[in-house]
Amino acid sequence: MLDRFIYQGLPARVLFGRGTITKLSEEVERLGLTRMMVLSTPEQVALAERACELLGVRAVATFSGATMHTPIEVTVRALEAAKACMADGVVALGGGSTIGLGKAIALRTDLPQIVIPTTYAGSEMTPILGETQDDRKTTQRGPRIQPEVVIYDVDLTLTLPPVMSALSGFNAMAHAAEALYASDRNPVVSLMAEEGVRAIYEALPEVLLNPADPNARTTLLYGAWLSACCLGSTSMGLHHKLCHTLGGLFDLPHAQTHAILLPYALTYNAPAIPEALTRLGRAMDAECAIGALIHLEGACGIPLALRDIGMPEEGVERAVEEALANPYNNPRPIEPAPLREILSRAWAGSGV
Ligand code: NAD
Repeated sequence: MLDRFIYQGLPARVLFGRGTITKLSEEVERLGLTRMMVLSTPEQVALAERACELLGVRAVATFSGATMHTPIEVTVRALEAAKACMADGVVALGGGSTIGLGKAIALRTDLPQIVIPTTYAGSEMTPILGETQDDRKTTQRGPRIQPEVVIYDVDLTLTLPPVMSALSGFNAMAHAAEALYASDRNPVVSLMAEEGVRAIYEALPEVLLNPADPNARTTLLYGAWLSACCLGSTSMGLHHKLCHTLGGLFDLPHAQTHAILLPYALTYNAPAIPEALTRLGRAMDAECAIGALIHLEGACGIPLALRDIGMPEEGVERAVEEALANPYNNPRPIEPAPLREILSRAWAGSGV
């Protein structure tokens, strides 16, 4: 029997497919904008320049200083640049780091955002912004943060290196997994979550074998989009909170942290989430969802221990303290001893 639920659709307009970046100018025109500032990381300047070419006179500046975890000092510099060129909108072209910068600008200026994601991290579909200041990452939600238009162009994902694609794919899968046991889950989001995991699980091995295969990339991006919708529509639990805490405290790389922690967080919650695990198993065509996930991660050649991505051992205790200090919704209550146990295991990569 269905429980009572609330479903709120996300207001973003989504374009999906190959070559969709060529629609950028049309979308800018649709929004009535004339002075766009294009954002990127230093590594994706060439792509930002391509966007400027497509925009023609509607491009007034580029800012290519986006970096992981949206540090406030970078946002301050980008805001000065937006003011100097009198931008009336931003194009964020890249992964979650660039999209985070676009959101941080929109939060403070209400400038409309057109987002062109090139990873599978999923920030584009959420009204969520995480920002870092003094080693601490704080997260907020709000309507100004939600991008107005998202252009998913499969072709732009073909250059994402295979291991980075796997890491980013697991990041996406984590959004769907936690949505299946979120306190505010609902039937629509659960459908998206299950289909998202199915698509990612199916496509990842193909993408690793042949990163330039547009069909596998299409399926992976489709799964990432669905998973991103899940992240934007439900509140996340232990897994996401731990990733944010660790990312802020130790400047750990985002996707790697998600990929390493996911099987451990699911194991912690397992006694409280039988239905979610059944759905995850169905999506992966496996009896044991956590086992299938671990198997796939092992085959992807990604780091499997937090110590291998820069977390100090004493960080385990700090993370436990943080998790206990900021209580939040999680299907299994957060208790220090079992949490310490799984974090120690994730740190050493010793398995669930
Ligand atoms: P990223 O944006 O930092 O990208 C990683 C690197 O890959 C960068 O150097 C980038 O230039 C490069 N890159 C991106 N796409 C590429 C491509 N197609 N080809 C070649 N290189 C490419 O990494 P990410 O994992 O996408 O994003 C992480 C950030 O996003 C974190 O700060 C995280 O907190 C944030 N995030 C936020 C949300 C949210 O809803 N607020 C959701 C997910 C992630």
